[in-house]
Amino acid sequence: MIALVTGGAGFIGSHLAERLVAEGWEVWILDDLSTGSMRNIDSLLDSPRVHHRIGSVTDEQRVGELVDRADVVFHLAAAVGVKLIVENPTRTIETNIRGCEVVLQAAAKKGKRVLLASSSEVYGKGVRVPFAEDDDLVLGPTTKSRWGYACSKAIDEYLALAYANERSLPVIIARLFNTVGPRQTGRYGMVVPTFVRQGLAGEDITVYGSGDQRRCFADVSDVVECLLRLVACDEARGRVFNVGNDREISINALASLVRACTGGASRIIRVPYEQAYAQGFEDLGRRVPDLSRLERTIGFRPTVPIETIVDRVIAQARQCGDSIVPQPLAALA
Ligand code: UDP
Repeated sequence: MIALVTGGAGFIGSHLAERLVAEGWEVWILDDLSTGSMRNIDSLLDSPRVHHRIGSVTDEQRVGELVDRADVVFHLAAAVGVKLIVENPTRTIETNIRGCEVVLQAAAKKGKRVLLASSSEVYGKGVRVPFAEDDDLVLGPTTKSRWGYACSKAIDEYLALAYANERSLPVIIARLFNTVGPRQTGRYGMVVPTFVRQGLAGEDITVYGSGDQRRCFADVSDVVECLLRLVACDEARGRVFNVGNDREISINALASLVRACTGGASRIIRVPYEQAYAQGFEDLGRRVPDLSRLERTIGFRPTVPIETIVDRVIAQARQCGDSIVPQPLAALA
């Protein structure tokens, strides 16, 4: 089988590509290296079954050629990370919506199976926890750029489902919750690699807001397993699935865990949201996936607890720490 992985040089994409190759697939990677990195796929490129193209998912001709070669398209290319999104709203909205449209149009020509990576951000400020796939979406005002990301992903989902319904395109939508693991960079605001880098450097661990906000962190290996099972499952076609881990932890507890695991030299400090993000930033109190549909459909339960996830991220950071050193966002714009 041949897979096209858009965003294949990114954090999740590179883990997915690695797994596909291990399972005997031929893999084509398309990535514009905006947040991905060749370093993520260096070891894969030795394989004769791995090919890469550096380019944008909005390039119709390039995407068309690659989709034609593939049996399955994993569309992961997107603007990622709350910090990046808040600071680059134009790029976020354009890449996410246009890129998805281009991929779906190309896939529809020959009825190729598509796995669309969406995001738990689409639930917005939903208050009914855990979040289930058919819940209402509760987004904030258009004046707050965070919600532009949620909205762009929601549009992608509407479009994918429209292709599924009107043109019988076999599309599966995976709403990814907080995903963590080796090779994730803290550069775009993600909390676990940021805390780990701070802990290992003995710097202050920066908890934003009160730290009472809660999240559920899934190991990237669990997420990749779900994506593979979903794409192989006929019953999953034309449907939306939460993908993640459902065990909650507060950001304060996460900070304490990381501090303990990195030697305990750091202080834990509170940083007001206004200082951490743009003025008027809205954070979410709790974000928990309802995994019952996923479990019923593909028989999956998360296997890696947060303690192990943190250990793995620390081990990787110790091995090649520079990959998680943050750079100023201005340098990346
Ligand atoms: N966060 C934090 N310190 C940091 C980075 C993030 O306290 O250095 C908080 C952030 O405000 C949010 C949570 O950690 O409440 C998870 O943030 P992340 O950006 O990883 O994911 P999100 O769930 O916001 O998409």
